[in-house]
Amino acid sequence: MTKAQRLRALPSVDVILRDPQVMALRDTNSVAPITNWARTAVQDCRNQILKDGDNFDAPLTAWIIERILSQSKMDLGQRLQPVINATGVVLHTNLGRSPMSDKAIAAAEQAARYTNVELNLESGRRSKRGERLMNLLAQLTGAEDALVVNNCAAATVLVLQAIASGREVIVSRGQLVEIGGGFRLPDVFRAAGVTLREVGTTNRTYLSDYESAINEATGAIIRVHRSNFQLAGFVAEPNIDELVLIDRPESVAVIDDLGSGCVSDLSPYGLHEPNVLESIRSGADVSLFSGDKLFGGPQAGILVGKRRWIEKLRRSPIMRALRVDKLTLAALEATTEIHLAGDALTELPTLRMITMPADQIKSRCETLLSQFDQQQPIELVPCESQVGGGSIPGSSLASFGLRLTGYPAHRLAQRLREGPPAIQARVNDDSVLIDLRTVADNELNPLAEGIRSAMLRTMPIQPTGTSPE
Ligand SMILES: *Cc1c(COP(=O)(O)O)cnc(C)c1O
Repeated sequence: MTKAQRLRALPSVDVILRDPQVMALRDTNSVAPITNWARTAVQDCRNQILKDGDNFDAPLTAWIIERILSQSKMDLGQRLQPVINATGVVLHTNLGRSPMSDKAIAAAEQAARYTNVELNLESGRRSKRGERLMNLLAQLTGAEDALVVNNCAAATVLVLQAIASGREVIVSRGQLVEIGGGFRLPDVFRAAGVTLREVGTTNRTYLSDYESAINEATGAIIRVHRSNFQLAGFVAEPNIDELVLIDRPESVAVIDDLGSGCVSDLSPYGLHEPNVLESIRSGADVSLFSGDKLFGGPQAGILVGKRRWIEKLRRSPIMRALRVDKLTLAALEATTEIHLAGDALTELPTLRMITMPADQIKSRCETLLSQFDQQQPIELVPCESQVGGGSIPGSSLASFGLRLTGYPAHRLAQRLREGPPAIQARVNDDSVLIDLRTVADNELNPLAEGIRSAMLRTMPIQPTGTSPE
């Protein structure tokens, strides 16, 4: 066929939409996206013919349908749905960081309808949004006041902009970090309209470096926690309790960007992370941290500190653009109450998983293993989980998991992801590892079902020496 003949033979969108394979997509999709994929696929096919001219000799209808099916698969994979986290990474950024507690989920669900977010039911008057939560956060951390914004990145921009815009902010060279997802401190400084005043060296910064950098243009000193890497060896830097003692004008704030924001004592578990309560006790003017890292709540940026500084942030014109919605307020309020009640390690899934003893995970593995028959290529193995999500860098937690062998690992992992249920596992040395630290007890049955189904849909590796028939 010539190019012109092929263009004439191009099926219409209507014809494509009547194809049985395309019709079947209606089970899981509405009509609009299917029509859209069909239109795009026909157009792509036309472009391919025009470009490739006489060399493009694929059967047109089959080529178009293939593209539609792959589009619908991509769409299905992007659709937000529950995922069983079998990676052993507790704060998994791609899986939404901290899973919320049952109480926080219930609170967010209630708030999704009408709720008294700006109304005091007692007085009948308008109340300040989130006022009760701010009091709870202050109480929990020992701070005078608190403020909540969309995430810790927003909190960083707000604090720099409101306190030091047009002025200099002093930071140690060893703390000019990139958090991930393109969040790099020097860029944030620029966006907030402050001048970066780097002091010290990559590995060593002294109190005197900060002191000699202070001048009339100084707006703040910031300490940034290295949340996702470690600096070891010949290193030194002042702690926050030393930084707050630096002789400085009243207008210069000391800001502590803690990142993961731990309010619990995890040292009995061998985990050491800067603590919000200690930061406030040291006398930091403003401490900021994420709501969905070790705090175990929804995505949020929490700022706590001295009243005069928090009040200044609250009055910033950009505050309104950064404020959180009622779902976040409700979930965060429930999470904060759990911390205040001293129930964090039992009621917050994140902390429960991080502190779960390995032998408990091992018996969970045994329960799961008992659901498979012995011929299946599954074995119980020790492994290491991670806290993840930009907190406690380098930490690994002794854990147990199930190793699935006998299948091409990446293919099996893909089948597990496709589900249902969607299961995100780890691929290690040509095998798939299911780390049970991050799997809840009520997910064990669906997980077993999902593994069985994924194995059935994956072609096993042929033992060497035998050839497939
Ligand atoms: C994670 C982190 C942030 C960003 O927090 P988000 O809540 O993800 O915006 C900022 N600073 C530090 C030190 C962090 O660890």
